[in-house]
Amino acid sequence: MCTEITKDIIHMPDVRLVMNAGSSSLKFAVYTSGADVPVMNGKVTGIGRAPEFSATNAQPDALGALTPETPHDEVVQRVLGWLTAHPEFGHITAVGHRVVHGGREFSKPVLVTGEILDALTTLEPLAPSHQPHNLAAIRAVRGWKASLPQVACFDTGFHASQPKLHSMFGLPRALTDQGIIRYGFHGLSYEYIARVLPRHLGPLADGRVVVAHLGNGASMCAMSARRSVATTMGFSALDGLVMGRRCGSMDPGVLLYLQQGMGLTIEQVEKLLYKESGLLGVSGVSNAMQVLQESSAPEAGEAIDLFCLRAAQELSRMLPCIGGLDALVFTAGIGENSARVRKGICAHLEWLGAHIAPEANATGENSIHSAESAVQIHVIPTNEEAVIAGHMRDLVG
Ligand code: ADP
Repeated sequence: MCTEITKDIIHMPDVRLVMNAGSSSLKFAVYTSGADVPVMNGKVTGIGRAPEFSATNAQPDALGALTPETPHDEVVQRVLGWLTAHPEFGHITAVGHRVVHGGREFSKPVLVTGEILDALTTLEPLAPSHQPHNLAAIRAVRGWKASLPQVACFDTGFHASQPKLHSMFGLPRALTDQGIIRYGFHGLSYEYIARVLPRHLGPLADGRVVVAHLGNGASMCAMSARRSVATTMGFSALDGLVMGRRCGSMDPGVLLYLQQGMGLTIEQVEKLLYKESGLLGVSGVSNAMQVLQESSAPEAGEAIDLFCLRAAQELSRMLPCIGGLDALVFTAGIGENSARVRKGICAHLEWLGAHIAPEANATGENSIHSAESAVQIHVIPTNEEAVIAGHMRDLVG
């Protein structure tokens, strides 16, 4: 018996577990040592409402009964318990997390200690919809096995290369000094795209490139030599493009009017900006682009048109920071899948010489610019989990 157990342990591969804990979902991926492709992916969606589990090679009830009352930390612990009970997935030797905000202090991935966790907790007011959930997952893993190395990888980190001027608001200097600056997000996605760009663009990868990460949250990053020079999200994840439920950039005077003129509380304004605006608010139909595309409501079409126009405007706003545009890359759920949105955005960029090839765009090719286009246009799937797994390999070995 003893020999059998030892044999099992010897044959269990060491695995790195990547976690991406959001407000209502927990996505995870398991990587074996050295590999860049996960051996399994899973997710629990609808936490707090109607939780559902799915994973490669797993039954939907593998985590046991999940109810709307099952808290986030218990979901994390059930995933860990389930993975541990299945030696075919391996022996968890480290856990890596996507953490939305590293502030000014953390621009590179770190091995989490109690002190670092405390420092990251002080950043929660900067990303109230995301940071608490990211950190709760780290705490849940510590509660499960305190000695397990955990790595935090930051969505803000990639933008640390922005020149100071590009990160400043026109606010009093004392506020800038206190950290009220443009941090930018989706950095793990941009880091992945920056890494694979040469494969798709050749030497142009080191030129002037804008990457459009268009998912439920949406932003763009202007890169030069594959480093972030400017980005559309700012101090918070509300800035920039119109998103699924978030408003994107707008006149800050509206915020004052909502409170002073209409008497909304801060909590009501926060809910309005984070949950009730964007594609959902404009269409009154859905926050999901796919649903809007299938809808016949004129408001759904108008929401898509606004999304495209605002995206092109935000892209154009960044161009002075990189001095022009050699290539545009679309990624994430909408960027990778919506030919209509790619076409809609590029229609506003023809003045730049960016011309899409309609057929290549419609059939989902990787390279979708026409022969006469002065700007290359590409679709590249992102992979934030692979970036986290790579950082874990570097930090934990
Ligand atoms: P996030 O990771 O930010 O939650 P995703 O990157 O998964 O978001 O993108 C989700 C968005 O992608 C939704 O608006 C969804 O409707 C849209 N999307 C996914 N597939 C398609 C498709 N085939 N056509 C149009 N939009 C799509």
